[in-house]
Amino acid sequence: MKIFNCPLKLQNFILSENKKIGFVPTMGNLHDGHLELCKKCIDENDLSIVSIYVNQTQFNNQSDFNNYPITFDDDVSKLEKIGIDIVFAPTFDNMYPDGFDTKISCNNDVSKILEGKYRKNHFNGMLSVVMKLLNITRPYNAYFGEKDFQQIYFIKRMVKAYFLPINIIGCPIVRDEHMLPLSSRNNRLNKKQLQIAQNVATTFHNYDDIETLKQKLKKYDIKVEYIESFENHLHIAYFIGEIRLIDNKKL
Ligand code: AMP
Repeated sequence: MKIFNCPLKLQNFILSENKKIGFVPTMGNLHDGHLELCKKCIDENDLSIVSIYVNQTQFNNQSDFNNYPITFDDDVSKLEKIGIDIVFAPTFDNMYPDGFDTKISCNNDVSKILEGKYRKNHFNGMLSVVMKLLNITRPYNAYFGEKDFQQIYFIKRMVKAYFLPINIIGCPIVRDEHMLPLSSRNNRLNKKQLQIAQNVATTFHNYDDIETLKQKLKKYDIKVEYIESFENHLHIAYFIGEIRLIDNKKL
């Protein structure tokens, strides 16, 4: 497995290989949810690339960015073990040679609901970095988790708007035995908070009616930001202490 930090070196290497490329962007601290995307990427392409980059421009909350778990060596060994060919791990200066003067933004009805409503500028930072990563890696297929449902919605629109010849492939949410989606943020929960998150996940999956759900969730020590339906899915975001978790399910 090769590790690249420099976008130009990676681009040159990819050009010289002339292979069908699959790409999985991540922010590291990899769990089985990420690894499912990576395995699919390996199966369906000739050269598999995973990026590990905690993109600060998509964080609306500085402390969330500062506390984002970094486990680079561990991540690299997990990726090597399953057979990923390339890890791309750039720095901020690598990724933002112009600072953040040039950006991709989205502005429509959907950017004002769910994550768009509560995480100001999140999607602009996310789309900007994904555009950069797609331009660097030039994949045939790129893989994203349906856990970030609205993210896939905007990435598909960006790919269409900018005529990028890339298949955007959504992958099912990987959950624990209590239906809690695996997430890097789960590692920040203490034992009691993890139990609450698992109870919330189970409850979320047992009821479809929004008002009933809101009532049922009242007994837990959480702050619900939203429970709303969008594109035939029910979406939830809530805080346990300082930690913000999201989930969605098909209705
Ligand atoms: P992140 O490192 O959190 O930015 O996630 C990188 C990619 O992995 C995104 O496309 C996420 O939607 C996806 N992902 C994260 N957690 C899960 C999960 N539990 N199941 C499936 N995909 C996931």
